[in-house]
Amino acid sequence: MRGKRGRVSADAEGADAEYGCDADDDRACDDVSFIADRMLGKLCVWLRILGYDTIYAGQVLQRLNDDGETHGDETHGDEAHGDIEDNLILNLALKERRILLTRDKQLATHARARGAMCILLRSDDLNEQLRELASCLNLNLEPVARRCSECNAPIRLVREDEVEELLINREYVPKALIHRTDFWVCEGCGRIYWEGSHWRAIRRRLETIKKETSPGRRIAVGGTFDTLHDGHKMLLETVYELSAGGYITIGLTSDTFARIKRERAVLSFKARAENLRQYMRRKYHVNVRIVELNDRYGVTLDEDFDYIVISPETYNVALKINKLRREKGKKEIKIVKVPHLLAEDGMVISATRIKRGEIDRHGNVL
Ligand SMILES: [Zn+2]
Repeated sequence: MRGKRGRVSADAEGADAEYGCDADDDRACDDVSFIADRMLGKLCVWLRILGYDTIYAGQVLQRLNDDGETHGDETHGDEAHGDIEDNLILNLALKERRILLTRDKQLATHARARGAMCILLRSDDLNEQLRELASCLNLNLEPVARRCSECNAPIRLVREDEVEELLINREYVPKALIHRTDFWVCEGCGRIYWEGSHWRAIRRRLETIKKETSPGRRIAVGGTFDTLHDGHKMLLETVYELSAGGYITIGLTSDTFARIKRERAVLSFKARAENLRQYMRRKYHVNVRIVELNDRYGVTLDEDFDYIVISPETYNVALKINKLRREKGKKEIKIVKVPHLLAEDGMVISATRIKRGEIDRHGNVL
């Protein structure tokens, strides 16, 4: 599987479920099926266009009613109803070995605890969601005439002897194309499909996504990372999420540069680099590239990156980097600013404060 990230598990401190995927098998494309939560209606339609058997949460109750199965007591209001729906889709995911697609961290945690395969999606943008999926599955990105995009039932070619019955009387079917192109009929809802202008728009969108998903994003982040604290971890989480299986470069302040900037003692470059490498490997199963920073810019003036992830105090450095890149005729790097994480006392978590003994790494006041 290309770019597969493998199962992403919570770290030793019991963090929340992370974004990413644990669709940890090599089933052929034809055998992969999904179940998508209510927030992913659009994605659901697109997965069907790509030929994937994809159940939409909103259609699950209907499906169970059709099968004559019971689905518990629904008289406890909206919240209970949401829980019931979550349980239903989770049960279906387990029973039919479907990959659960969700934007709900809680549902993903619950699903993983019960042993379901789950992909937690970060974005609410369709292209971005398809890119996220393609980064952890060997996702087919060609339209396939196999599923009805409305109801998920199989579609089949319309036979010559069915033309009169199925096509002639349908208002939306272009009569000029009859006998000149293939038509498909949905075996569930009867909807008719053909390769029209809509189909070409679909192909164009998929071409763009294909270009963007390969070879993964290049992310730059920089800092001293002395005493890895929860603020650093939040920054690194953003880095990992943005990378989508791509290439992460961490500019790490050199010993000399770190000491110029501070009066307090700082761990050695070697120790800080090793802590970072181990953390990223243990938590996200990724290998990162660490480069020594002897100035504020490191490799960002010469190499190309898709994103630079910064904390508020280095925003001006990122702006300067882009200014210098423009002067060199290079493309700007998209800046992603991660807010400071605040300690229990409402002030920023920083290594300086930790070393002074004011707070611990999680921001608890000592
Ligand atoms: Zn249909």
